[in-house]
Amino acid sequence: MKRYIAKACPITILICLLCLLVMQGCTAPGEVKEHTRNLLALNTWINIRIYAGREGPEIINSAVQRLEEIENRMSVTIQDSDVSRINSNAGIQPVKVHEDTFEVIEKALEYASLSNGAFDITIYPIVQLWGIGSDHPRVPSDEEIKEKLKLVDYQKVMLNKDEGTVYLKEKGMGIDLGAIAKGYAADEVVRVLSQAGVKHALINMGGNVIVIGSKPNGQPWKIGIQDPRSDVLQQHIAVVETANESVVSSGDYERYIEDVYKKTGVRYHHIFDPSTGYPANKGLMAVTVVAEKSIDADALSTVVFVMGADEGLDIIEQMENVEALAVTMDKKIHTTKGFDKRLSVTNEEYEIIP
Ligand code: AMP
Ligand code: MG
Repeated sequence: MKRYIAKACPITILICLLCLLVMQGCTAPGEVKEHTRNLLALNTWINIRIYAGREGPEIINSAVQRLEEIENRMSVTIQDSDVSRINSNAGIQPVKVHEDTFEVIEKALEYASLSNGAFDITIYPIVQLWGIGSDHPRVPSDEEIKEKLKLVDYQKVMLNKDEGTVYLKEKGMGIDLGAIAKGYAADEVVRVLSQAGVKHALINMGGNVIVIGSKPNGQPWKIGIQDPRSDVLQQHIAVVETANESVVSSGDYERYIEDVYKKTGVRYHHIFDPSTGYPANKGLMAVTVVAEKSIDADALSTVVFVMGADEGLDIIEQMENVEALAVTMDKKIHTTKGFDKRLSVTNEEYEIIP
């Protein structure tokens, strides 16, 4: 039998091996190659790119599963999500939520207090009133805004850690985790991928980018910062070099009422100032924050956008290992100290002011 295999099979074995290779998507055992996946989740297009062996597609599957889990818990539009249940029980009773949701809300309240309410997840009644990004956006009256603004107050979110419950004190209140949940999801994708042994990856969640390690060739990743005044996606104003970090941008260009903008030049966008109920208007078009954790970069990019360049960048300056840039209406890129060294401007209309 042994002799038979040795004599008769080299070609057959070779063919079998080749077939196996083809079946495995041409990844030889031990060979690392690029695997990518695009999907729509958390209200945005997501691209996951990892470098892994033949198990790459399965690893991506588990990351996607984790994303879907988070979306099902934190989406404000999914009827039985934790967030929807919290909102429909506002002023009625505390709601038991999954620990993922609890953790994100706890973090959101920390950022609310750090920013003195510039970041406030109870902004939802205002978000709904304007409907920006929905199919019925409109500019509400001052009276309507004043009325809804009464319901916006992060100090009326009651957390009970022992019970794992969340309670909104007033009827009509609502929370929206749109400014922070993507960051949490990005960190969780990184955790799943790292646990599966992935050493190099780039995940792009519509403006929320997070990377694992460097590029496979040892070079840092180069992340483009979107031109806030170009209709073309991937049109950049600058590039930041990074490894093992998250780079998150927020801006008035992501969602706004287009027909009003075309008629009047006024850009009513989706990031609200909780002190006025109107879109934040501190002279910024965009903000980018770089931090180790995407949840921090995500929350902070919204914080800086609402607070404006001076106050916002001051807050970031006091944090360790967090950097930020803020792009003003006159196309100046203001940065935290030293961050300018990691940036290269790719559009001459913009100028860095360190
Ligand atoms: P981002 O793109 O991360 O800046 O988040 C914007 C989203 O967060 C909006 O679409 C709203 O759902 C929500 N949001 C708007 N204004 C605020 C705010 N001041 N604080 C917290 N969340 C907000
Ligand atoms: Mg954010």
